Amino acid sequence: MSERNIAGTAPAGATALAALAKARAILEAHGPQLATDPEQARLLGEYHQEILRSHGLMLAKLVFADCEVCAGVDGGVSCCFEGAEDWYYPLLLLANLLMGVEPSLERRRAGDCLFNGRLGCELPARYGICLNFFCPDLCARLGEADLLLLRRAVGRELEAGRLWEEFVGRWLMAHGDRSWI
Ligand code: SF4
Ligand code: SF4
Repeated sequence: MSERNIAGTAPAGATALAALAKARAILEAHGPQLATDPEQARLLGEYHQEILRSHGLMLAKLVFADCEVCAGVDGGVSCCFEGAEDWYYPLLLLANLLMGVEPSLERRRAGDCLFNGRLGCELPARYGICLNFFCPDLCARLGEADLLLLRRAVGRELEAGRLWEEFVGRWLMAHGDRSWI
């Protein structure tokens, strides 16, 4: 049974921290073996490439620049709210660890998502809602053509993530590890 805090019954952040602990445990138990599995490495590489592509587009269209302002550089208010971190589950956090990012364990600003850093989201591998949400101001500034471009890039990123996750899930099951379910 998933421990995702969909009903919001646990304190904000508790589910994310538990998921992160599971991701770290998977990495410790299987990291070297997973890293040398060629299919895992290929799928993770493709996922990372799609992330870099959509990040490049977000940078070019100044989306990250706008989100940086909300993250507090100029005293903004972010849509990345406290509790959103609990959408994150062990395999998605494992992807972040494998991409060399240590997710934050401390909330930088009350009311913000645990993973919202000074310059915006600190995670390379993000949840679908995080990637698909563009606030009304951004939508108005970007216009339909650019939004479509960004959504297509996000779609490719999510699909690459899904393929990696499915593979790793099967791999872990085959190696007797169900701790992440
Ligand atoms: S999506 Fe909009 S409200 Fe949310 S952080 Fe970015 S600019 Fe700010
Ligand atoms: S984009 Fe990042 S900071 Fe914003 S809600 Fe999602 S995980 Fe949190």
